[in-house]
Amino acid sequence: MQNCLFCKIIKGEIPSTKVYEDEFVYAFLDIEPQAPFHAVIVPKIHIKSADEINTENSMYIAKIFEAVAKIAKQENLENGYRVVNNCGADGGQTVGHIHFHLLARRNLQWPPG
Ligand code: 5GP
Ligand code: ZN
Repeated sequence: MQNCLFCKIIKGEIPSTKVYEDEFVYAFLDIEPQAPFHAVIVPKIHIKSADEINTENSMYIAKIFEAVAKIAKQENLENGYRVVNNCGADGGQTVGHIHFHLLARRNLQWPPG
């Protein structure tokens, strides 16, 4: 989608530090990391938010979680990690292309703020 920041990152029009890529998924380091390891994982199709997941596109969400498991092994995150999806204004979503944060390498508090 035109004028979507993460579509531009996927296409390489905006530079990013790649962590993982396959046919369905692209993962890159967050520009403002909230943990010593903080990757953003996005589907290679434009889905606006979790609200727009449906039967046609949900396979991409499964692929994201397959990627999480691969990245965790690749990055040796054996101590654990957190996967976060922010949806909509109250959820704290600032980029309108669905994405999952993969946070690791610090003791993450629960509940979140
Ligand atoms: P949200 O707040 O929508 O859940 O997450 C958006 C994330 O994208 C934020 O953590 C923010 O730091 C990250 N981000 C925004 N713009 C860029 C960018 O240009 N490059 C990278 N690598 N991350 C970005
Ligand atoms: Zn997009």
